Amino acid sequence: MPGDSTRNAVYVGSFDPPTLGHLDIIRRGARLFDRLIVGIGINPDKEPLFSPDERIALVGEMASDLPNVEISCFDNLTVTFARDVDAAVLLRGVRTVSDIEMEFTMALTNHSLAPDIETVFLMASDKYSHISSTLIKQIARMGPDLAATSLERFVPVCVIEPLLARYRKPTER
Ligand code: ADP
Repeated sequence: MPGDSTRNAVYVGSFDPPTLGHLDIIRRGARLFDRLIVGIGINPDKEPLFSPDERIALVGEMASDLPNVEISCFDNLTVTFARDVDAAVLLRGVRTVSDIEMEFTMALTNHSLAPDIETVFLMASDKYSHISSTLIKQIARMGPDLAATSLERFVPVCVIEPLLARYRKPTER
């Protein structure tokens, strides 16, 4: 039914940088919902590797073949962001049992803040369940020679060069 907010989901995170694990959830979410809005959370207490605009551009490029995926930034509560974009579902990916503990608390909190909004979980695909943005940054820090060959197993191709550029010494730029 057009205009039914239960057919629209938000998928929020830092995406700093976006990974193949994120892309897998975005692809699967785009098949399940009419609109999937990727929300890039801005946390003023954290110094990100990529600016919000850079992250919008990277997610936009990796999801460019998915017409029902939209991308925007937000700096308020996830449930407020969901309401602002007319979505009644929060889509989350879970990788491990320890993810579930944290996600459970978050889902309960969001439910008490906004009982009309449901959290839906997708299990990470087994080939991506070990991937996290933190791991990617550690690999990129190893230096371009080692990292360039292994990064393609963890991030979309469009992320590799911008990521390596962040860790290049000024003399190598
Ligand atoms: P945060 O900023 O909350 O740490 P991320 O940007 O890393 O989060 O992730 C946002 C969402 O994507 C979360 O639901 C997280 O569990 C999920 N996610 C992250 N990495 C993966 C992965 N490799 N496979 C599936 N889901 C993932």
